[in-house]
Amino acid sequence: MSVPPRIGFIGLGIMGRAMAMNLFKAGFRVAVYNRTRRNTMEFADLGCQVAATPRALAKLADVVITMVSDPAAMDSVLEGPEGVLGAFLGGNTLINMSTLSPEYTAALDRKCFVAGVNFLDCPVSGSKPLAEKAQLVILAGGKKEIVEKYDAVLKAMGRAVVYAGLPPAGTALKLCANLVVAQLTTALAEAAALAEAQKLEPALVFETLAANPALDCAYFRMKKENILNKDFTPAFPLKHMLKDARFMLDAAARTGLELPVTTAAEKLLAKAAGRGWGDKDLSVILQALTK
Ligand code: NAP
Repeated sequence: MSVPPRIGFIGLGIMGRAMAMNLFKAGFRVAVYNRTRRNTMEFADLGCQVAATPRALAKLADVVITMVSDPAAMDSVLEGPEGVLGAFLGGNTLINMSTLSPEYTAALDRKCFVAGVNFLDCPVSGSKPLAEKAQLVILAGGKKEIVEKYDAVLKAMGRAVVYAGLPPAGTALKLCANLVVAQLTTALAEAAALAEAQKLEPALVFETLAANPALDCAYFRMKKENILNKDFTPAFPLKHMLKDARFMLDAAARTGLELPVTTAAEKLLAKAAGRGWGDKDLSVILQALTK
């Protein structure tokens, strides 16, 4: 990359805020757009341009990065008269880092191809603490030479780029990685609930896991305080894992594969969302185990 690209970043939520900030800290020229303008203020204070619409942002950028909730949010920033795609010229690049479905991602790849826009399918593995430390793992789908061209951009946000293949391979791999996260979280919540039901301190479960080299896992340590203190301040909002679990089950069903444990996890996530906890951290599923 001889001349650093101008980056337009869309979606300054839990993850996007940290990722855009790391691009800025790495020296890239970053302009931002967020539906709720309040979240752009710290970037304006740093001297970044703040666009009033996704279209206006696209006009300021060579590369637009999206980190928004879901396919509906992607449609609202990409499509229509104020969307990115209408303003993008051939040769521009769209890098999606949100977690979407493989079907949506494949359709977006086709749309970009027809418009002459480069498309990278780059969701991330890792939550808020890793996003803040630029330690995400980026699961890259796209033409290899385009992924390599933007290596410095991706590495400003993450510690590793895992090349998965052509879109939607990045998204397909992300769903596999998140399946493990869904099940690890469910396992922790159930173990803590079972400990309590047997009149044991749930902290003993974490002590046991940490003492066993085969089970001492950084993810368990990350979720320990959430579960022990019942502090569900979101790092990964439960509503996003519910969305992802449904994408996993849908992707599996399309190939005739059954995922019985993920099916059970989806039910538990849906139960917690039904109690109004969608914006809380995923670890709130602990509460869904109790009456
Ligand atoms: P978040 O905090 O809920 O932020 C969502 C972002 O999307 C916000 O900027 C929000 O704008 C925007 N948005 C939502 N609906 C929109 C719409 N209709 N039009 C325009 N913008 C819209 O989510 P997050 O945790 O950062 O996650 C973002 C994506 O990364 C999701 O796909 C998630 O599954 C994935 N992910 C999350 C984590 C994690 O640990 N949190 C880890 C890996 C991947 P407003 O500010 O206006 O609401």
